[in-house]
Amino acid sequence: MARVVVLGAGVCGLGAALMLRRDGHDVAVLERDPAPVPDSNEGAWERWERAGVTQFRQAHFLQPLGRIVLDEELPDVRDALLAAGAARFDPLRLMPPWIADRRPRPGDERFATITARRPVMEHAFARVAQEEVDVRRGIEVERLLTNGVPRIAGVRTTRGEELPADLVVDAMGRRSRLPAWLADAGARGMHEESEDFGFLYYTRFFRGEQPRMLAPLLTAIGTISLLTLPGDDDTWSVTVLGAAGDRPLKRLRKTEAWTAVVRACPLQAHWLEGEPITEILGMGGIVDRYRRLVSGSRPAVTGVALLGDACACTNPSLGRGIALGLRHAQLLRDTLREEEEPGRFAEAWDAATEVEITPWYRATARQDRERLREIDALRQGLERPAPADRQAAVRAALTPAAMCDPDVLRAMLAERCCLDSPTALDEPELAERILELARDAEPAQFAGPDRKQLLTLLA
Ligand SMILES: Cc1cc2nc3c(=O)[nH]c(=O)nc-3n(C[C@H](O)[C@H](O)[C@H](O)COP(=O)(O)OP(=O)(O)OC[C@H]3O[C@@H](n4cnc5c(N)ncnc54)[C@H](O)[C@@H]3O)c2cc1C
Repeated sequence: MARVVVLGAGVCGLGAALMLRRDGHDVAVLERDPAPVPDSNEGAWERWERAGVTQFRQAHFLQPLGRIVLDEELPDVRDALLAAGAARFDPLRLMPPWIADRRPRPGDERFATITARRPVMEHAFARVAQEEVDVRRGIEVERLLTNGVPRIAGVRTTRGEELPADLVVDAMGRRSRLPAWLADAGARGMHEESEDFGFLYYTRFFRGEQPRMLAPLLTAIGTISLLTLPGDDDTWSVTVLGAAGDRPLKRLRKTEAWTAVVRACPLQAHWLEGEPITEILGMGGIVDRYRRLVSGSRPAVTGVALLGDACACTNPSLGRGIALGLRHAQLLRDTLREEEEPGRFAEAWDAATEVEITPWYRATARQDRERLREIDALRQGLERPAPADRQAAVRAALTPAAMCDPDVLRAMLAERCCLDSPTALDEPELAERILELARDAEPAQFAGPDRKQLLTLLA
């Protein structure tokens, strides 16, 4: 049994705390935000103050990998979500009607998920966690305790309390201050990469009868994308997202302009037919960041593990952060089962993260780079640029190929839903098939305003 202090009571911190506690560890969670867990889902949506999670009221979706981890590890959290009215969603239902071979395949059930608004999702975790884990809210950490550098041995809070720990888990999200604390503790050699792709999100939530899904959840339409997500309790969200440098898009903050743009997208316009339950919620400044505590082959520090967004976070339009963070939490539990000795744990944890999590970070960053290149060209009135390399060519061919082949569709969904590795599509035979199908297919262009029409709508 290890003494574990988890810093941050977001979804991934709480998920990890529950899994570790259920594996027999002594777990405490320290959360800086003081607000107690509300009594109801609606209270969580309307009143829960979570300044520590900037995206708390932005559009969220739980990818099927996340639902699978809940089934395997936290069925009570899943049941709490279902009791809160979480929407059930199966992307296979979006199979185009012209695909003739509609026979189910073994394993199709893995694509199904349940999803809810972010506050409701987190509320389910928080209610279950507070029954069995020591979750302390309103506690700020002042510094890390060390047992000789580079071994972290616990934390000291700003109230002067010291919590010794065999393992400190950084689940403080994308703005985690752990690197500064590690530097203060004398640890050197932490690796960090960051890149600001600069996407802006403009989201509005609605309530009513769930709209019919006529397009993928995320649809690129020229220089913008539309994200339409089912939520819990007859709610849903509609997001218009685009590049931060695209100044006219700033007008999307205005309800009128935002509504006009969505209305001009025929496959999504009917998502406006509900009662709006928020104004337009804008968000930007979303940096991609990847951190690692091993430099070369040696841990820069032991006794600490990076988890979820604190380890790797990207532009979230593919909606994978929570699913990957929960998988990361499951891996953490497994790694600690195998290895409690700090040095060997640090190496094993780094290796597991590099195999299962880092490839998703790299793949998403690559995809974002390609999308921004495309947006830049379209803004200048140029043709869509040719894909940068074969990998990008396969990704560009994927949607048109998936629209005419049920197995390529499944391969695409497996990647989107984090059910297969992000490089599975590059397996030579599959990649060749995708490219070949796309050569004969209609280009996948979704209806909506072209650049000139968009600028008119935003004027
Ligand atoms: C606009 C947007 C949309 C997104 N949409 C999706 C989506 O559709 N699907 C999806 O899966 N993911 C989505 N994500 C990503 C998702 O929100 C994150 O991956 C997820 O929140 C990560 O969880 P976490 O527990 O690692 O961190 P967080 O949820 O950020 O939680 C970190 C916690 O640490 C606490 N904390 C911070 N500093 C301290 C400190 N010093 N001491 C103690 N506590 C501290 C914070 O208060 C917070 O509670 C989206 C992100 C954004 C920005």
